Amino acid sequence: MKKVIILLGIPGSGKGTQARLLAQHYGYAQISTGDLLRALENDAEAEATDKAKLVLMKQGKLVDDSLIYKLAFAEIKKQLNAGVGVVLDGAIRSVVQAQAYHDFFDKLNITNEVVAFEIQLTDEIGRKRMLSRKVCSVCGHIIPYTLQNETIFICSECGGELKVRHDDHPEIVEKRLRDQGNEVLAPIVKYYDDLGVLIRVDGSQAINDVDIEVCKHLEKL
Ligand code: AMP
Repeated sequence: MKKVIILLGIPGSGKGTQARLLAQHYGYAQISTGDLLRALENDAEAEATDKAKLVLMKQGKLVDDSLIYKLAFAEIKKQLNAGVGVVLDGAIRSVVQAQAYHDFFDKLNITNEVVAFEIQLTDEIGRKRMLSRKVCSVCGHIIPYTLQNETIFICSECGGELKVRHDDHPEIVEKRLRDQGNEVLAPIVKYYDDLGVLIRVDGSQAINDVDIEVCKHLEKL
């Protein structure tokens, strides 16, 4: 089994959900840069200069690469050193970042341990999903919008409070789709395709079906 699983997809494609499932199946650590940034926001001891960079996140823009590398590389190293594989969820959002991660893996001598999945979804479906989901403010569990779920405010996994994410509000969703939608994703996907490590899966399927497909691919590698 490859030690580094990269999940690529537009916002709303289900990267976070799939990363959580993979981490559970294989005992891997899920590393979500979005979660690391949100944790930083609530960390009283974090450096003020790092926190100041989070303003961009609230506007739906990408935060500085330097902050992403600082948070993600430290976490990846920590897990790999402990013998734990990693699932990178939304950690790579530009070709420049993809190259920097590649150089980082190269230094660790593990480029042959990397596999990347594109969870394919149209911007239109991504938009619908973002505008209708709720997320647990404690454990990050995501519940899709359904009429039944509309009146649920407590997380079934941990009892935490379910909230609409600040950046899931309509104007910000549009900004995120401009900055992180399929047009921006395409060259990143191509980068991994050119490396020969890319696998594409249809993200519009039910959560379980996407999971089964990803696992089948992984177990064949
Ligand atoms: P997510 O929870 O994955 O949707 O990420 C939430 C927000 O965190 C994004 O809209 C970006 O502002 C920021 N973010 C997460 N990962 C990255 C990254 N690799 N590069 C730049 N910004 C990121």
